[in-house]
Order: sequence, then structure tokens, then C-alpha cells
Amino acid sequence: MVKINKNYLKLQENYLFSTIAKKVSDFQKINPDKKVIKLGIGDVTLPIIPVVVKAMKQAVEEMGEKETFKGYGPEQGYDFLREKIVEWDYQKRGIPMEKEEIFVSDGAKCDTGNFQELLDINNTVAITDPVYPVYLDSNVMAGRTGGFNRETQKFDRVVYMPVTEKNGFVPELPKEKVDLIYLCLPNNPTGTVLSKEKLKKWVDYAKEKEALILFDAAYEAFITEENIPHSIYEIEGAKEVAIEFKSFSKTAGFTGVRCAYTVVPKEIQMGGVSLNTLWNRRQCTKFNGVPYITQRGAEAIYTEEGQKQIKENIEYYRENAKIIREGLEKAGYTVFGGINAPYIWLKVPEQLTSWEFFDKLLEEKNIVGTPGSGFGPSGEGYFRLTAFGSRESTIEAMQRLK
Ligand code: PLP
Repeated sequence: MVKINKNYLKLQENYLFSTIAKKVSDFQKINPDKKVIKLGIGDVTLPIIPVVVKAMKQAVEEMGEKETFKGYGPEQGYDFLREKIVEWDYQKRGIPMEKEEIFVSDGAKCDTGNFQELLDINNTVAITDPVYPVYLDSNVMAGRTGGFNRETQKFDRVVYMPVTEKNGFVPELPKEKVDLIYLCLPNNPTGTVLSKEKLKKWVDYAKEKEALILFDAAYEAFITEENIPHSIYEIEGAKEVAIEFKSFSKTAGFTGVRCAYTVVPKEIQMGGVSLNTLWNRRQCTKFNGVPYITQRGAEAIYTEEGQKQIKENIEYYRENAKIIREGLEKAGYTVFGGINAPYIWLKVPEQLTSWEFFDKLLEEKNIVGTPGSGFGPSGEGYFRLTAFGSRESTIEAMQRLK
């Protein structure tokens, strides 16, 4: 008899954002006349920028001509894009990088979820609490997390690093022995960041303990303050201990286009085996590359005009973040994040849980956010709003909350 992978039964029944979508759709069925403002899921609303549209149209034309048609592309991404990534995202920042270390993919979600496949099942995983759910769930599916304790809402074999107001949302170095450390900076959901000095402590720790950092920099483009690293490789020695995930989703409005990349430095060797070689092997077996049209679109971002246009869009979301922060503060809420990230993390009024606040906001103000507890037990009592809505709906949401 065929048996299922029982690890799947340890997962929460639904992915967080599917639960939210269901609640909103049920509410709309009963209240079709209510205008719901969605500041829940972190999806962009501005269209892709003109230089990308132009490049993709041209690529479509090429695909329609016998001479320029392309079939399967390289699993690792076309050289034209890998070279631009190396030049603009790394060499311009003084970080040495080779194109063979860049693996273009169709999303940081898949890559952050898939990467753990390369690593032994007995490795101990450390995650922040709250956390982007994919890191935890993908390790649950693989069977790396042990059983779920209903009382603590935690998995037995996972090391949770609480990030709360008490520690300024900065995770502390684990005291237990850990092997894989997931860090997301700027952080989803709390919107907070680490300075270079603080991130260096993590790199030094990983070196000392022979751990691997899985560094998700999907929101790097939203950094506004000085001294906040845009890449973990700005920290000396990081290429020996860190994998970096980057995405065009939030940087360039590619959530529907789908393009991202993962950096697997050649320096990382484990027991004499190169992770770069293993990831390459994995991708060649299980992935057939990102569409040529998409990669030409991503390439267009790496031009002066492309950079100017994406910055305008990011500026628009930053202004939304400011409107939300200020609006919430005026309404008497305690807020965090929103300065170097498109997420605003607020404390819910004391008598309510995160999900109760979600329901109240939906029913009374017709605003959708994300309950903090959906990201982990230490997220209880907090709530996430995103700056990715339209300007009008962001302003209206703040007016409703006044
Ligand atoms: N990483 C983080 C921390 C995210 O919040 C998200 C999306 O919300 C992703 C990765 C997914 O990125 P992509 O659209 O490239 O799959």
C-alpha cells in the first residue's frame, strides 16, 4: 500500500495566507457591498516598469522568429542575467562574485523551501519566532523538526529564537548547538533590520560553530538607513558560511512575473563537498530554468533607467509605509518596522489576541492585515500591515482607523 509522507500531517492545516483569503472571501459573501482594503499578504500593486515591459515585448518577438527562438534555457539562468547580477548587485558594492555562484530561479519562496533538501535530516534548524512560514514548513515536510507540542505551539527539534519588543526584535545567538540558521533581513514580518556589526556576530558564530546561514534578503531594496547590509556578503567571511536568497518580486514588482536568484558561494564546503556543486545538481534535475522572456525583463532592471524606474516604485511603497506608521501612531498604536521594510508590525490592543484583532478589523473597519501569531507563537499580540497597497487605499485605511 502506498503510504503518505506523514510529516505533512504535522503542518498547520492551511498555509497562513490561504486561511486569511478564505476568511476574507467568506466575509465578502455576506457583505458584498463592503469595500475591503487588503493590507494582508505582501503582494505588490504597481505595474511592472516600462523598461521591463519593453524588454519582455522584444523577447516575445524573438521567440516568434525562427532565427531567434529559444527552447530550454540553462537551468542556472542565462549568462546575460547572471553577469548583470554579479556586476550590479555585488561588484558595484565591492563584493567579489562569480556568475557560477548565481542561480536564477522562479522565486525565493521555492529556493528557501528547497535548499534544505541538500542538508542532512539530522541537522538542527534555528528560526526566528515569528518567522516567514516557508522556512519552518519546508523543514517540517522533510521531517527535520520532530513532533509538534500543542501546548507551546512549537516543534521539539527546532530552536526558536524569539524576536519581541523586549530584545528589540534582534534574535539572540542560540545557546544550543544549531546547524542551519534562517535569517530574513530586512525582516518579514517585523520589518526590522540588523546593523553590519550585529550581522557580523552571526557570521562569526556560524564560522565558529560550523553552521550554515540561510540569508533571505528579499526586501533588501527597501533599506533606507546607512550601515544596514544589503547583502550578507558585505560581512567579511560570509561567503564561507552563508547562502543568500534574493528576489525581483518586491524589488521590481515581479510577484506575478516570477524571477529570483540564489547565491551559493564556491567557498562553502561541507565534509569536502561543495554546496555549489550540489545545488547545481539539484537544479539540473528538478528545475528547467526561468523563461527567456522573464530573464530579459529582469536584465532590463540593471540599467540606469531601470534602476531609476524601480526606485520610483519603491519610493511609492515607502511613502505608504510612512503613512501607515504615522496613521497608526496617531491612532494610539505602538508600531515597529516600516522604515527599512515594507512591513509595519503593530501591537494589538491588550485585551485581544492577534486573530481576534484580525476579525475585529475585518468586520468593523473592513481592513485585512495578518495576525502576528500566524508567524509563530511569539508573534501573538502583534499584527502585520503591508505598504504594498495603493496610495488611495492606504490613506483610506488610516482614515478608517482614526
Ligand atoms: N522571502 C520572504 C521573506 C518573503 O516574504 C517572500 C514573499 O512574500 C518571499 C521570500 C517570496 O519571494 P518570491 O516571490 O521570489 O517567491
